[in-house]
Amino acid sequence: MTTLSAETPAKPPLQAQQSARTPRIGVSTSYWCEYAWLGDGVTSRVRFGEQDGVITAVETGVDPGGGDVPLPGVVLPGFANAHSHAFHRALRGRTHAGGGTFWTWRQRMYTLADGLDPDRYRQLATAVYAEMALAGVTCVGEFHYLHHGPDGVAYADPNAMGEALRDAARTAGIRLTLLDTCYLTGGFGRPLEGPQRRFGDGDADRWATRFDALRPDATTRIGAAIHSVRAVPPEQIPAVVAGADGRPLHVHVSEQPTENDECMATYAATPAQLLHDHGALGPATTAVHATHLSAADIALLGSDGTAACFCPTTERDLADGIGPARLLADAGVPLALGSDQHAIVDLLEEARALEMHERLASRQRGRFTPAELVAALTTSGHTSLGWPEAGRLAVGAPCDLVAIRLDTPRTAGVDPGQVVLAGTAPDVATVVCGGVMIVKDGVHMLGDVGRLLGEAIDVLEES
Ligand SMILES: [Zn+2]
Repeated sequence: MTTLSAETPAKPPLQAQQSARTPRIGVSTSYWCEYAWLGDGVTSRVRFGEQDGVITAVETGVDPGGGDVPLPGVVLPGFANAHSHAFHRALRGRTHAGGGTFWTWRQRMYTLADGLDPDRYRQLATAVYAEMALAGVTCVGEFHYLHHGPDGVAYADPNAMGEALRDAARTAGIRLTLLDTCYLTGGFGRPLEGPQRRFGDGDADRWATRFDALRPDATTRIGAAIHSVRAVPPEQIPAVVAGADGRPLHVHVSEQPTENDECMATYAATPAQLLHDHGALGPATTAVHATHLSAADIALLGSDGTAACFCPTTERDLADGIGPARLLADAGVPLALGSDQHAIVDLLEEARALEMHERLASRQRGRFTPAELVAALTTSGHTSLGWPEAGRLAVGAPCDLVAIRLDTPRTAGVDPGQVVLAGTAPDVATVVCGGVMIVKDGVHMLGDVGRLLGEAIDVLEES
């Protein structure tokens, strides 16, 4: 870690840098793809026409033309990272000495949260979202609960921290669903303490008042979140559901057995049952993790039309366990994916882990088809985040393209239709979001993302 002296001039905040996301009215481009993922599999020699950020034409079996932007390899639709806590990225590679548990990891995370203000949050999140873009992410769902200043005192703009995230996603060139989170208690029947006080609004009505001031824009949509049944008492849940008003509603569900045990002891119900009983499940809702579910919980999520977001690299990092992904899918639950605490930012790895963790748990291969894994990365993830028009390569969809090379040491010889089982983030060569090329030849438009991340984390070290 470098240490800045008092005389070192501060770098300008990233939002002051010019974003490459300029309006694209009247601009058109054509892309020629060696292979592209159309529907449930790959098609060769595909041209996409694009105008104003939207796909306007799809031609198959065509040769490249002189005016086409060539995209070698396989082109998938843009990936949705449906569960992110951007600031957790600063804990990567720092929590492994001495073991510990989910709960000791959480304490480290609270200490980190204490050092953030809107400028530092913007700087860190911009770098994290750029790292996501390099991995093919064109839309992120930020499960945002770090709302207020030290000791829980509101900023002059009570949404200053959420607005910092909006700026960050825009600067990194990706779309954002800001899942503004209601977080009221530090556990079942426990008040918020220490850094947790920055998360709380007092009650769900005051959360809703602050939430109502958030506005969508061209690249930002607004959703809500209930942190968990640990953090929102059941009598407060209906006000959050009403505040969400049909927009995406996310909630952490049964990540740890302790949560289930305490919920059962306090309310004689599982978290899923408690959420159902208070109107929080349904087609707009996504249950995040959904790791430790009963058979009745799985049936309930399916019958309510609730989605689930698995975060496999986080769930293994935090020793959460392996959730019942196949059983949920069979119950009709759409599956999305998230990198959550960003121990790894590689959405292809998240998708692959959905299958691989199932193999370890079931001792069977082929639990998910490649098409199901791609759907989790793309269509299901975007629907969970309130962008149902995105995540597919079709006329009328946003022009979000992720080109994965098939000539790297990792991907040479790979069947293009199975690239999701072999490709990794470093194999992503080109990313187009809304018609803007935000990653070219493996380089993000902001430049050296490793340096941006290092600088943002160094600033936190000094606080
Ligand atoms: Zn989370």
